Amino acid sequence: MNAYQKKKIISKIAPVVTATGVPNLFEGRYGGIGHILMFHRVVPDSKKKRVHNHLSLEVTPEHLERTIKFFAEKNYNFISIDQLDERLGNEVCDNKRFVVFTFDDGFRDNLEIAYPIFKKYGVPFTVYVTTGMPNHTAVLWWYILEDMLLERDNVHFTWKKKQYSYESKTSDQKEKAFESIQHFVHQNFSLDDHLQLLQAIFKDFQSDLTRHSSELGMNWDEIRLLNQDPLVTIGAHTVNHYNLSKLPPEALKREILDSKIELERQLGQPIEHFAYPYGKTHHASEREYNCTEDLGFKTAVSTNIGNLFAENFHRPYSLPRININRVTDEHVLKLQTSGLIPFLVNKGKSIIR
Ligand SMILES: [Zn+2]
Repeated sequence: MNAYQKKKIISKIAPVVTATGVPNLFEGRYGGIGHILMFHRVVPDSKKKRVHNHLSLEVTPEHLERTIKFFAEKNYNFISIDQLDERLGNEVCDNKRFVVFTFDDGFRDNLEIAYPIFKKYGVPFTVYVTTGMPNHTAVLWWYILEDMLLERDNVHFTWKKKQYSYESKTSDQKEKAFESIQHFVHQNFSLDDHLQLLQAIFKDFQSDLTRHSSELGMNWDEIRLLNQDPLVTIGAHTVNHYNLSKLPPEALKREILDSKIELERQLGQPIEHFAYPYGKTHHASEREYNCTEDLGFKTAVSTNIGNLFAENFHRPYSLPRININRVTDEHVLKLQTSGLIPFLVNKGKSIIR
C-alpha cells in the first residue's frame, strides 16, 4: 500500500471514528494547548493527471478556507509563529487553544492564492523560504520526478555502475516508482555527488534541473511584497533543501546560516524562525536542533506529527506539526487535533520533540 492509499483509508474511516466519540476521550490528555499546521502549496483543482503521492502536498483554495473555518468554529486563537513565545509555559490562554498556519519552501501560490484567503479572515501565517528558490539554484527534484513518471512507461538510470529500473505504466506503478525513487535519492544523498545523482536520474528527460525554482517559487520582489503585511512572518528553510542529517558539521551550519543571512539581507530584518527540510527525525534530530538553537533562532519546526504542549517550549527547536494534505478534511482534523492520530503514530507518546 502506498502512502496516498493509507491517507485515503484514514479519511474513509475518520467520520466513523469521530461519530463514536472516541476522539473526545483523547482530547484532554493528548490534544495539547495548540497546533502548528503545515502546508506547501494552494492550487485550484485541475484535470491534469498527477502522481497522488506528490499531489498530496497541495490543497485547493476551498480546502484552505474550510480549514480556517474549522478552527474559527471551535473558537481557536489564530496566532503567528512569533506570538508562540508569549505562550511560553502558559497552559490554555483564555481557555482557548491556538493554531499557527505555516507553509514550507516559498511557492508563488502562497502569495497569489493563499494570501488573499488569509487576508479575508485576518489570519496570520508563516512562509519558510528555501533561498535557492528565489535565487533559482534549488533543484525541486520531486517535481521533475513526477513529470518524468507521468510521461514515461518505465524509468531507468545507472548510478555507481549499477542499473536501476522502475515500471511506470499504470498509475499504481507510477505511485510506487515515485516512492521508491524518492527513497533512493534520500538514501544516496551525499554532498559530493548529489547533483550528479540527479543528473543521472533525469538524463535524457530534463537538463535544466532548477527550472521549477523559477517557475513555481516566489522571486525576491514577491517575497518582499508578502513580507510587508503584518499577518506574514518569513522564516528560513535552508539554501538548497538538502537532507540535513547527511551533511558534515560545517556544511550543516552553512546550509542553515546562509539562508538566514540571505533572507535578512534581502528583507532587512531579523529572521528568527526555521523549518527543517523533509523534517522527520531521520532528516533532522538532536545535532540539527542544537544547530538552530546555537544560530539564534527563536523556534524551529519539524514535520513530526504532534500537538503542542507547554513542555515543547522549554526548548522550541523541534516543534511538531500537523500535516495538512488533500485528505485532511474536518473528520481527519478532528482525529489530529484531539491527539488520537498523534497517539497512534507516536505509540502513545504525547509530547513530541
Ligand atoms: Zn520543504
